[in-house]
Amino acid sequence: MKSKATLYCLLLLVAFACNTKKQNEITIGIQAFGSIKSEIVDSVSKSIKEVYGFKTILLPTQSLPKKAFVNIKSPRYRADSLLRILKFQQPDTIDFTIGLLDKDMSTTKKDRWGNVLKPESKYLDWGVFGLGYRPGPSCVVSTFRFNTADKILFYKRLKKISMHEVGHNLGLPHCNFSEKCVMRDAVETIRTIDQVELSLCSKCKRRIL
Ligand SMILES: [Zn+2]
Ligand SMILES: [Zn+2]
Repeated sequence: MKSKATLYCLLLLVAFACNTKKQNEITIGIQAFGSIKSEIVDSVSKSIKEVYGFKTILLPTQSLPKKAFVNIKSPRYRADSLLRILKFQQPDTIDFTIGLLDKDMSTTKKDRWGNVLKPESKYLDWGVFGLGYRPGPSCVVSTFRFNTADKILFYKRLKKISMHEVGHNLGLPHCNFSEKCVMRDAVETIRTIDQVELSLCSKCKRRIL
């Protein structure tokens, strides 16, 4: 009886070890789309290492997929379609993929029950900075809506939005613990992103690292 219990514990331990990769064993692929600059890709890669301690791999640049293109309010790429495309093309050697583009991106904004927010004309094709599965294997960030002539501010925004979306992939919800946490909900304004720091608060950190 005792040996059976020992064996069971051992099996549990093995299962736990398989599911729990160490931080430095997790790999994020960075997928540059279209004409996105290499400085942008490098900056996101660097902050993934700094904030999460994950390895990064730069995937060969792809043109933006035509099937993700819509022209409802204006010419845009659907973030939800890009997420799915990244998920299906993700190689086994990669745990997560972040897609980066400089064209405008949109999604349908829904409430927690899955209903489109009102007015539908506003939220059916809602422009976004970024979107990520929670949890899941992929996220996307578009620089289009937060671009600014102030390059320092631009790179701060890029890093914060990218780390926020990676946080969602790891299972983190929006943070109500700290005003400065990168997982705070942007609530439809870039000002929120400018107020947070490029880091997770201690509670969010404990949830994933
Ligand atoms: Zn979010
Ligand atoms: Zn937090």
